[in-house]
Amino acid sequence: MAKTANEKISRPPKKAKLGQNFLADVNGAQKIVEALGDISEATVVEIGPGRGAITDHLVKRAKRLIAVEIDRVLAAQLRLRYSRFPNAEVLEADILAVDLSTVLTQRIGPLRDLRPTKAEKVRVIGNLPYYITSDILLRLFEAHALIDFAVIMVQKEVADRIAAKPGSSDYGLLSATAQLYTQVTKLFTLPPGSFAPPPLVHSTVLRLEMAPRIEELGVDEKGFIEFLKSIFGMKRKTLFNNLRENFDPETVRAAMKAAGLKPDVRAEAVNLEKTATLYKALINR
Ligand code: SAM
Repeated sequence: MAKTANEKISRPPKKAKLGQNFLADVNGAQKIVEALGDISEATVVEIGPGRGAITDHLVKRAKRLIAVEIDRVLAAQLRLRYSRFPNAEVLEADILAVDLSTVLTQRIGPLRDLRPTKAEKVRVIGNLPYYITSDILLRLFEAHALIDFAVIMVQKEVADRIAAKPGSSDYGLLSATAQLYTQVTKLFTLPPGSFAPPPLVHSTVLRLEMAPRIEELGVDEKGFIEFLKSIFGMKRKTLFNNLRENFDPETVRAAMKAAGLKPDVRAEAVNLEKTATLYKALINR
């Protein structure tokens, strides 16, 4: 039987480059939404709603939903599907180019009301497009003052890195940055068969509770992030050798001693407190 135009549109081809592995597991979708808690009084931002597996639950429960989808066809379909939900706004946009504070203070949904609403902390949810996981996380950390917590699905290996503790081989820039801004909890893992088409990897759902430690550690945000990037620059090198790229060896030796660090330690073995002490010792010289 010939397909109608509508049928064709409702099944867009998978766009591998957009990380389109759609959640096909109904229980999985429900569990992710439940991890957001009671959202009847909350604004929820969904990253990459796709075909609406998670969004279908959100529109019925959230006070306000902003769903950001880059794919033009999917965004148009979602807009149509949720047109009778005045609490839902579908933005056709690249999440990396979206300014969360602007989005939150404008209403751009079907009931067009551009009066600014009071900015409030939002909950973020998303089965993330895996090809830009780190970039999305960085954007969320940058916007930490606007976010209460995030429930995100990422590739299992990436979840392991985000949640890794110092001293483990998985600990690195992603772990340090994530733990500088959030408290990380692993919730559950889904197999490839929970998605259509199935990805090659397992997927883990994380809860990231915003709990920035910048003030407590006494560091300046920008400088410390750059410092983290530099110390995890070459993973096989010792901390001392990574630091020598930017500071003279004597200064590094003295600062490491002041932070109570052994000369041959690697960055992945050092916790955030000691890393901050080291950073302050180096920049105050
Ligand atoms: N939430 C849906 C689900 O669970 O079935 C879809 C998840 S799929 C893994 C990722 C979604 O993110 C896709 O719909 C894809 O088109 C969208 N996406 C990819 N890159 C994006 C970007 N830069 N900004 C917004 N959405 C993006």
